[in-house]
Amino acid sequence: MSTATVSVVRCDGYEIETVCGNVRQAVDRIGGIGAFVSRNDRVLIKPNMLVAKPPDKAALTHPAVLEAAIRLVLDAGAKPLVGDSPAMGSAAACAEKGGFVPILKKYNVPLVPFQKAAVIKNPDGAFKTFEVARDALEVDKIINLPKLKTHGQMVMTMAVKNSFGLVPGVRKTQWHLRIGNNPAHFARMLVDLHYRLAPALSIMDAVTAMEGNGPGSGDPVDLGLIIAGVDASAIDAVSCRIVGLDQSLLYTLAEAKKARRGTTDLTDIAVVGDRLDDVSVTGFRFPVTGPLISAIPAVFTHIARRVLTPRPVIVPDLCIECGRCEKICPARAITGPPPAKRRAATPPGHMTIDYTACIRCFCCQEICPEGAVSIRTGWFIRNRT
Ligand code: SF4
Ligand code: SF4
Repeated sequence: MSTATVSVVRCDGYEIETVCGNVRQAVDRIGGIGAFVSRNDRVLIKPNMLVAKPPDKAALTHPAVLEAAIRLVLDAGAKPLVGDSPAMGSAAACAEKGGFVPILKKYNVPLVPFQKAAVIKNPDGAFKTFEVARDALEVDKIINLPKLKTHGQMVMTMAVKNSFGLVPGVRKTQWHLRIGNNPAHFARMLVDLHYRLAPALSIMDAVTAMEGNGPGSGDPVDLGLIIAGVDASAIDAVSCRIVGLDQSLLYTLAEAKKARRGTTDLTDIAVVGDRLDDVSVTGFRFPVTGPLISAIPAVFTHIARRVLTPRPVIVPDLCIECGRCEKICPARAITGPPPAKRRAATPPGHMTIDYTACIRCFCCQEICPEGAVSIRTGWFIRNRT
């Protein structure tokens, strides 16, 4: 079976037997779980566990999709474990809030905390070394369970980007700091990382996706799909077609194409299951950052790009001064009042951003539990659109 085969299967809602049936069907269409997992394999299942949010917010892979993947791995006679490195908080807290805990208990599957890291070499890539979770290296296979969502910095988070969670917490922050305000360069790192770790299979939860202010505070939108395959770039290319995003605007796909990683051209991808014409949607709302940032000519200097590109703005009426953005900001560009004085001020929302330090990683927007970080475009972009 070609690695450029992608399975697209309709799945209306998260009723557990419906999801399990459709996930199984999606995997059967590309060869069945036995083609990817062997008996007694230790298999790390890696969902999107961004932050501790309930399933109806569509910020995490839905627990029903996790359960479906666990059942498949068990049916293959293999041993599943589950892990991810959330953007904020512990994996245990995300598992609790995200509805994973009853499933893990039901099947006696451990949640691995990704506390230890190990260095791996990547001689064939642009990025030569990575520090990744030791747990991800000590398994026989990885199954990637991404969620289809918009993403302030990277436009969308789909199959390739989901592998970033295999990098333990603080090291993810270091990547943002090291790469700075250059989403294409960041995307190349993600591509290198994903293909170095090479999950055996990706099964994307696009039953309820997220549009708008993703990946943490966007709006749930029903697409009713499970999308599966071996090649994450091919899955992302198919997903772009489904949501109506020009492939060249998805940084990870553009970089994968340049690096010749995976199959990115739709004409080279065999789609099995539902026809793309039948499942594609119109009017999907993307974040203002990604597609528009590409409109800025490369001749602008680094500093000019900082001024002209979109920037995060804290909406005072929505901000509860929880300090999460301040804590996660890799550039230490956000400051707020001393904790004792928070919410005492009138009006509230006294968190401030130093735009000379801000690297436009949009981690603050990703992490904000209140959707209080919006993205404002620069004058150049406003005048072009
Ligand atoms: S902007 Fe969001 S994350 Fe930052 S302090 Fe306000 S509510 Fe918390
Ligand atoms: S203010 Fe927000 S976008 Fe800017 S560097 Fe900090 S976390 Fe990233």
